Amino acid sequence: MQHAEENVAPPRETTCWTASAAGPALVIHGGAGGRIREFQNLPEGTFEQALRASYEAGADVLRDGGSALDAVCAAVAVMEDDPLFNAGRGAALTADGRAELDASVMAGGLAGAVAGSRHARHPVFAARAVMERTGHVLIAQPAVETLTDWDLETVEPDWFVTLERSAQLERVVARREATNQHGTVGAVARDAQGRLAAATSTGGTCGQWTGRIGDTPVIGAGTYARDGLAAVSCTGHGEAFLRGVVAHDVVARLRYTDADLRGAVLDTIEESLTAHDASGGIIAVGADGSLVVAYNSAMMLAAMPDGADLRLMA
Ligand code: ASP
Repeated sequence: MQHAEENVAPPRETTCWTASAAGPALVIHGGAGGRIREFQNLPEGTFEQALRASYEAGADVLRDGGSALDAVCAAVAVMEDDPLFNAGRGAALTADGRAELDASVMAGGLAGAVAGSRHARHPVFAARAVMERTGHVLIAQPAVETLTDWDLETVEPDWFVTLERSAQLERVVARREATNQHGTVGAVARDAQGRLAAATSTGGTCGQWTGRIGDTPVIGAGTYARDGLAAVSCTGHGEAFLRGVVAHDVVARLRYTDADLRGAVLDTIEESLTAHDASGGIIAVGADGSLVVAYNSAMMLAAMPDGADLRLMA
């Protein structure tokens, strides 16, 4: 059986992109580490187009005066439906070939998450339902009846399993090549009222133990948002993000030190990832309008505003 620690990719020098936006703003990511081998031969621009579609779904919400929470959920739901990304349909599979999906959201001092979800078509909506309907924060393996009660669309577990991910798992199990592929999708936003929100969704790491839960559904590790400070979504070696409580650490640096958002993100990557030989990436939006995408992995799929344009990282 593949052991989670074997998914550690060696860290590289950190790459950091920043921007600032006076009004509503959105940043999305499609995972640190990029494309699995099964997607290497897709036509040029395929990933850029997919990132743009997700970004536009979230940006449309903000343009229409919608909330940051609606925007991050809309952006993440698009990537959950797209088999290119490790979330929802096309998620990475566990060692025994199952899709076990984790997701979380945070906004307005509230948070919700699901772990090991197998039936919600959009795990991010299930996470939001936990936040808005249960009074709890984290529910494991929400039942079909529960999801139906929450008016969410359900699917059979096999619906998430794609040929490409099955092939990836076969490679990993056969150990014919390194397995250090990162995945996960996420979004952070600030709306016209200055409210902040973050959402993250993943299938975890390819070949992970059945039942393994990474940082994504753990509030403070993979996702965190606090009005007045920042919203953060993470991707990468989940165990390192859990140990470093990374998303919360970024926000805590803003709260308790003089760091700006860029410095808070870079110091957190250095201390929680690079120093522990782990890799990954962080996206963040600050209450002050600052936007950050930073990663010490080989690459990161992401999109952020760049003046009037969109900067696509793919
Ligand atoms: N952080 C995710 C997890 O460990 C995977 C990733 O982002 O690559 O489940």
